[in-house]
Amino acid sequence: MNRRRRVYEGKAKILYEGPEPGTLVQHFKDDATAFNNKKHDQIEGKGVLNNRISEYIFERLNEIGVPTHFLKRLNMREQLIREVEIIPLEVVIRNVAAGSLSKRLGLEEGTTLPRSIVEFYYKADELDDPMVSEEHITAFGWASPPELDDIMSLALRINDFLTGLFLGVGIRLVDFKIEFGRLWEGDQMRIVLADEISPDCCRLWDIDTQDKLDKDRFRRDMGGLIEAYQEVARRLGLHTENPTPGRSGPVLVQSK
Ligand code: C5P
Repeated sequence: MNRRRRVYEGKAKILYEGPEPGTLVQHFKDDATAFNNKKHDQIEGKGVLNNRISEYIFERLNEIGVPTHFLKRLNMREQLIREVEIIPLEVVIRNVAAGSLSKRLGLEEGTTLPRSIVEFYYKADELDDPMVSEEHITAFGWASPPELDDIMSLALRINDFLTGLFLGVGIRLVDFKIEFGRLWEGDQMRIVLADEISPDCCRLWDIDTQDKLDKDRFRRDMGGLIEAYQEVARRLGLHTENPTPGRSGPVLVQSK
């Protein structure tokens, strides 16, 4: 029985009150959802894999000086994070046409974009997370212009870093979604990366076979989701069978 106070429950994660003020425990569930919860299933082991993969990515980002909410992994399904005030935006960064962009603009999936494109969606389930512009964001006060500048530059920096990280293990980072929060330290505030980065919120394609190693396997009823997430973890050098932290580093893939 869980006696901790539940602060928030989302589709794939639960946030509990943390051990210290200003901290929370982020718990990864096995729930898989798509199309704003219209498709829903339980996939055993997904939460464990996402916890591990997200931990790895947030640690690497912390190391290169990208501020994040991540403090440490606590166990197979949970991590300790800093409490932040979530900015109600889903920030999507795209390198290759896929998904809703392909649909909206009639672009063939797999077409490399002329440059990386950042899009914003307003987090509102009842509206199906509509796409919004910087004008909407600043006019409605969801983020201020300087906050948006920080978000844009962090998003592009994260994209550059992750593109290289995944390329090194034979994976093409097609697109991904991230979220940001305001971290208050006294009366100082800074924008930090929050939420998670895992195959649930990225499109990851094998560089040679174009195999999908991400949640599109669930969205498109392709099967093999856990095997795909395990493959991402394996290539990043993560031992997900072993719950204790420790890593041997990414497995470099020979370029042809
Ligand atoms: O569906 P769409 O093509 O707009 O998704 C772009 C990227 O954002 C994909 O990597 C997808 O996994 C991610 N995404 C997400 N959560 C959403 C919408 C999109 O993680 N609610």
